[in-house]
Amino acid sequence: MPTGDPFDILIVGAGPTGLFAAYYAGFRGLSTAIVDSLPEAGGQVTAMYPEKMIYDVGGFPAVRGRDLVQGLVDQAAPWKPTYLLGRKAETVTENGDGFDVVLDGGEIVKARSILISAGIGEFTPRPLPAGDGWLGRGMVHFVPSLQAHAGQHVVVVGGGDSAFDWVLALHPVAASVTLVHRRAKFRAAESIVREAQALGVRIITDAEVTKFIDVDGALDSVEIAVKGAEPVVLPAQSVVAALGFTADLGPIESWGLEIDHRAVAVDSTMATARDRVYAAGDVASYPGKVKLIATGFGEAATAVNNIAVKLDPEAHLFPGHSSNAE
Ligand SMILES: Cc1cc2nc3c(=O)[nH]c(=O)nc-3n(C[C@H](O)[C@H](O)[C@H](O)COP(=O)(O)OP(=O)(O)OC[C@H]3O[C@@H](n4cnc5c(N)ncnc54)[C@H](O)[C@@H]3O)c2cc1C
Repeated sequence: MPTGDPFDILIVGAGPTGLFAAYYAGFRGLSTAIVDSLPEAGGQVTAMYPEKMIYDVGGFPAVRGRDLVQGLVDQAAPWKPTYLLGRKAETVTENGDGFDVVLDGGEIVKARSILISAGIGEFTPRPLPAGDGWLGRGMVHFVPSLQAHAGQHVVVVGGGDSAFDWVLALHPVAASVTLVHRRAKFRAAESIVREAQALGVRIITDAEVTKFIDVDGALDSVEIAVKGAEPVVLPAQSVVAALGFTADLGPIESWGLEIDHRAVAVDSTMATARDRVYAAGDVASYPGKVKLIATGFGEAATAVNNIAVKLDPEAHLFPGHSSNAE
């Protein structure tokens, strides 16, 4: 359990917005802890498209998702934010000079203010029934490291953009990649489907993975039921179940905030309806909102500067220019 003085800001969500807020808080001399229910920083970028190129972040004509996240982590690092990864913020109660935030597992984090950068909330992958009990033992929902699949036979299950993204990303490193989809049509963009076909990726449609088969406890192959045909058994050391996800603000909805279409309403200072609680990034809602990484960065700066003044009314709202800092 974190002990000692309360953090100036507890940032809820280690996506791009929360990470940039951690940098910004450090720049303003504020101490931070940053909590995320995922085991790695980077939010949607790390979880869903770490290998994709992003073209609309200022200053980067093109940046790979993973590299953008690493840059954000590096940028915040000098200020030593405390990372509380793999833990969800559950409840918030006032404690006199701030808040007690209880994480799942019962830890209490004390903070003088809260910045919610929880994006679209906690995302839960849609399950692959045959893979029950195999998560982390051969089955994954996201691919944080392509190299972990080097030389493996990989079966990707799904028919959306993410499934095809993983197929294309894994194709150069895996021994083989097969895509299995339960329908004949794909939700994925046609261009990406054509790209996979052009690479000669085996695509099995109208088919479902029905069984995970182990040898000495390790995943060895999968059985696939194909409509109107004999089942197929394919070698597989790895199954990527890319069936989409559900997203849910979850506990945040009961933190006494104004919730607007599954987001948190804020004013132009990024303040929520609750004193000392701010929101930024995808989770923050106001008229004209555009949910983009670039927007989240600006909102993080606005939120942190306003928190700085809230915590110390003598402080200036304008932080000065970082280019003038030592
Ligand atoms: C496939 C795809 C491609 C995209 N491409 C682009 C693009 O090219 N350009 C662009 O600008 N945007 C793009 N986006 C959108 C972009 O990823 C989001 O706008 C951005 O990630 C929002 O950042 P965020 O930090 O606000 O939230 P998120 O990235 O959603 O991070 C929020 C974090 O909060 C955590 N969290 C939620 N609730 C809790 C809780 N109670 N306790 C602890 N942790 C919690 C979540 O686990 C998550 O890690 C894309 C999105 C997707 C899905």
